Amino acid sequence: MAKATARAAVMTKTGGDLEIREYPLPRVEKGAILVRITCCTICGSDVLAWQGKKKAPVPMILGHEIVGKIVELGEGAVYDSGNRMLKVGDRITWTIMDNCGKCYYCREKGLMMKCLHLKKYGHDSCADSPHFVGGFAEYCYITPGTCVVKVPDQLTDEEAAPANCALATVVAGWEAADLGPFENVLIQGAGALGFYAAALAKHHGCGRIIVTDILGHRLAAIKEFGATDVINTKNMSDDELVRAVRGLTDGFGADAVMEVAGVPAIVPAGLKCLRIGGRYIEHGSTFPGANVTLDFSEIVFRCLTVRGVHNYDTRHLQRGVDFLAQAKGMFPFHKLVTDRFPLDEINQAMNLARSGKAIRVAVIP
Ligand SMILES: [Zn+2]
Ligand SMILES: [Zn+2]
Repeated sequence: MAKATARAAVMTKTGGDLEIREYPLPRVEKGAILVRITCCTICGSDVLAWQGKKKAPVPMILGHEIVGKIVELGEGAVYDSGNRMLKVGDRITWTIMDNCGKCYYCREKGLMMKCLHLKKYGHDSCADSPHFVGGFAEYCYITPGTCVVKVPDQLTDEEAAPANCALATVVAGWEAADLGPFENVLIQGAGALGFYAAALAKHHGCGRIIVTDILGHRLAAIKEFGATDVINTKNMSDDELVRAVRGLTDGFGADAVMEVAGVPAIVPAGLKCLRIGGRYIEHGSTFPGANVTLDFSEIVFRCLTVRGVHNYDTRHLQRGVDFLAQAKGMFPFHKLVTDRFPLDEINQAMNLARSGKAIRVAVIP
């Protein structure tokens, strides 16, 4: 049985220190699950919300890349999304969102991340019960519209935690990019999403897997995740980058580009790096004011496709977890979490995440 109260790191104003607060644990309703959190990794969007660069109601418990152990199962919460039976003590992760399954976007468009009754872990106010709706806390209350995925035994908590945002989002982008074996991909950004994108590309037999970033240590590290070529764009013009990418792809350009840096200014050059008929997948612009100037004739004359991918659907999380389990021997996923902090040191953890020095920082509550 769980305790009567538990602790959480709460953001009471953007930009300020997170405060440790105690809240009563909720009664577990039908279809819900109470989880003791064992690991939550800090996503770039946690840092953006903390800095006030995106909408964030306060008070709020940030953190959505979560893994934990089931403490209590509500009536009827018996199976995970892969139809595996759940029991108390099982390690699980779950979708970033709770969606209704009945609205226009859930039913008609397959866009459950745009559900009209959407709730998102680590994104909503924690003022009211059940309070525990974010990852920087000892417990999380999983509501019935959430899809749960059992974590395979061979994955550690730290390997599994980034799956429900960084990896699942990249799996959704991967599906949109529609890349086949031997095709070439350019990945703009060597953060966690870039590492997973490179590993997926390698796993699926892509030819050139080219990664750009301005941080040399990240570019060095991503070679272990399948990148065939890395380009440091720090002192490089757009034209030089386009020439370099064409030089690596028989003069044609990449079949798909995935923007996972969250830097709108690199989008125009990324589009120029595509070959005719190429697909541009935009992940990174998750904040307002991501303005760029584009020559749209480029998109028309060269028959390009531009797709925005925000969050993901349940199947992408399940595939992401399956991919981690299957490809664990091929890529050092354990190296993505470089630093770990207890809940009491959440502010040090957030500051390190903001610095960009770590790929993923883990909070172990
Ligand atoms: Zn995230
Ligand atoms: Zn809905």
